[in-house]
Amino acid sequence: MTKIRVGVNGYGTIGKRVADAVLKMPDMELVGVVKVTPDASALIAESRGIPLYTVRDRVEAFKSKGVKVEGVLEDLLESIDVIVDATPGGVGARYKELYLEYSKRKGLKMIFQGGEKPGVAEISFNAYCNPEKIPGHRSVRVVSCNTTGLLRLICILDKAFGVEKVRATIIRRAADPKEDKRGPVNSIRLNPPNIPSHHAVDVKTVAPHIDIETAAVIVPTTLMHVHSVYIVLKKNTSRDEVIDVLGRYKRILLVDSEKTGIDSTAKLVEASRDMGRPRYDIPELVVWKDTIHVNGEEVWLLQGVHQESIVVPENIDAIRGLMNTKGYPSESIELTDKILGLGSLSRVLG
Ligand code: NAD
Repeated sequence: MTKIRVGVNGYGTIGKRVADAVLKMPDMELVGVVKVTPDASALIAESRGIPLYTVRDRVEAFKSKGVKVEGVLEDLLESIDVIVDATPGGVGARYKELYLEYSKRKGLKMIFQGGEKPGVAEISFNAYCNPEKIPGHRSVRVVSCNTTGLLRLICILDKAFGVEKVRATIIRRAADPKEDKRGPVNSIRLNPPNIPSHHAVDVKTVAPHIDIETAAVIVPTTLMHVHSVYIVLKKNTSRDEVIDVLGRYKRILLVDSEKTGIDSTAKLVEASRDMGRPRYDIPELVVWKDTIHVNGEEVWLLQGVHQESIVVPENIDAIRGLMNTKGYPSESIELTDKILGLGSLSRVLG
């Protein structure tokens, strides 16, 4: 089998996880990752045999620290089929012109992350909403962690019952665990201080027909986001039916908090650690089963989003979508889920 040759530009929270997922996929080869700083992450990647690349003006910095690089970004782009850009928000857009050169010349495909503006790529994507839109395009934007969480839920319910409208409050983590310079430390900040927040706008980049408004606040935690989601469906349903529908999807983790005692993000993270999940990642959208409140056509629930890992499966599917692999999208989603072990926590905690 010819493997899809993948490169990752930006080796931080998202880039590291996408690189590790690519390493696990039987149909993909991680050709290299691009780093700009020869720090601990670079040393660890080097020790794990992950080929490191950098940008032209950083070669000396790597040399002076004795960290070996295989070449510069342009060398990597020359030898891959797909570049996954996981640089900080706004930086990916600055690389777009360079990627496009390789795209025109040798068919390079590109994936951007949710921190970029929607116009950076031809389409914005979520695997449960619009996977069929990717083939034929050369660029895709995987929407942000919060938008991915909202879309997974909304698109599943939309397919099963039809969605009339969505109103959601997003309680955002202040920073990722490694980000020791960010806050707030002792405050709840409106972010943004108006309604709708950008999350509703972002949902519409993938599902334009959904009537959605969102509000968002930031709280002093690093572990996960939590959403309070109120949805009006197009037909009456029951709690059991909603649970049954959500339970059919491996990227939804239904947690029974009465049975397990898991009523917080801290306990979820502990469960993930106990299951031996790498970096305590939870790429599934967590839905607390006990909170699912159904009244006719109204559904209200609380859900958790592990911001560091929820977009990883979508990045893997986007790679196969851009390469239009055989059996995409259903076989891709199935393979991604199987290799990443999605669904394993549901069997224990559901
Ligand atoms: P990060 O800061 O953890 O990682 C970005 C990496 O890119 C860092 O290692 C940084 O050194 C490197 N970098 C900076 N400038 C660069 C350049 N010019 N060239 C190459 N590399 C460069 O950021 P992140 O959290 O992984 O976010 C990456 C993207 O993913 C953003 O668009 C973000 O909005 C999105 N995203 C982040 C999260 C999250 O919660 N962390 C969730 C979903 C999506």
